[in-house]
Amino acid sequence: MKTVYRMSEAGECIRALVARKLEYEPIPESPDSLEALEHYSRCEDIAAWQMTDKGHVLQHEAVCPICRERTGEFRNGIHVELSEALFDQVGHLDRRIYIDEETFPVEIKSLGRFTWPKFQKEQFDDFMGYAAQEACYLKAEGKPGIYWVMNRDTGRSLKYIVNDFENRINLPGFERVTLPITYEQIVEKLNSVEIYAQENELPEVEYEEDKCRYCRFRYLCADMKEEEVSQELNAPGLLEAAKLYREGNDQRKQGEDKVDFAKDILIKYAKSSEISKYRVGGVSVSYRGQKTKEYLDSALLKVENSELYQRYLKQSRPYEDVSIRVLKGD
Ligand SMILES: [Zn+2]
Repeated sequence: MKTVYRMSEAGECIRALVARKLEYEPIPESPDSLEALEHYSRCEDIAAWQMTDKGHVLQHEAVCPICRERTGEFRNGIHVELSEALFDQVGHLDRRIYIDEETFPVEIKSLGRFTWPKFQKEQFDDFMGYAAQEACYLKAEGKPGIYWVMNRDTGRSLKYIVNDFENRINLPGFERVTLPITYEQIVEKLNSVEIYAQENELPEVEYEEDKCRYCRFRYLCADMKEEEVSQELNAPGLLEAAKLYREGNDQRKQGEDKVDFAKDILIKYAKSSEISKYRVGGVSVSYRGQKTKEYLDSALLKVENSELYQRYLKQSRPYEDVSIRVLKGD
């Protein structure tokens, strides 16, 4: 079956794309960043209202019916697709705009007080991820597009007409820009993602380090040097140990789930029955209520070179600095 890429991930680092395809576990999104994402998408709705207020007529899809039926996912926007030999792509336009009875794709971004002026100055050159996503949308629509970038703090917006080589869109107050990446370059990149994945190989990082901060596969790069020199071995004694490690790791996970599940029932019983100390089936339970523990904020001690810090600084016993993890995808 062909891989289906999201157009919004077309600009991701090639290493991250291969990692996802090889089913490495992404770092989970924190509740804070999910909340922020939700807030940004609300800001995009505000930007769309601004456009409507200025007299633009927009097409809008709240929940994509196609994705909902296919995968059960709730995706917002107007569904578009592209199909290539090795993969498919699915994306969702924020809006479409009517200009002289024709529609054109609209992409809305809401940026912060540092990123907005950066976009104003550099445009897509410093936002290659956005450029790749937009290149896919324009290919899917076969048309130039509108790009609307709102400042989350001030509500001011930058307005662009993207890749309009035949002057099909004429809107006053919009600046004309050309994307620094072509759709063909994206196809080439996703093709190589497919090939790397087939070889079970993680390619080099595509971006400079500052872009890696939010990457959900950044843990794979932390020990990149180690991976570069790691050798594949198959000595029988080691293979047996590796098998034991993987089995034990699985069992430990299962064991933790079982313990958590049972603990929940046992505590609930103690709470609801008010029998706080009991024995059952070889397990004794003693519930002493909800408590908090006091601890010393380590920041207090880490005042650089403070006498107090030095006095409490202790050397641990020697330990083996090693990282062993279960590889996915085999
Ligand atoms: Zn969809």
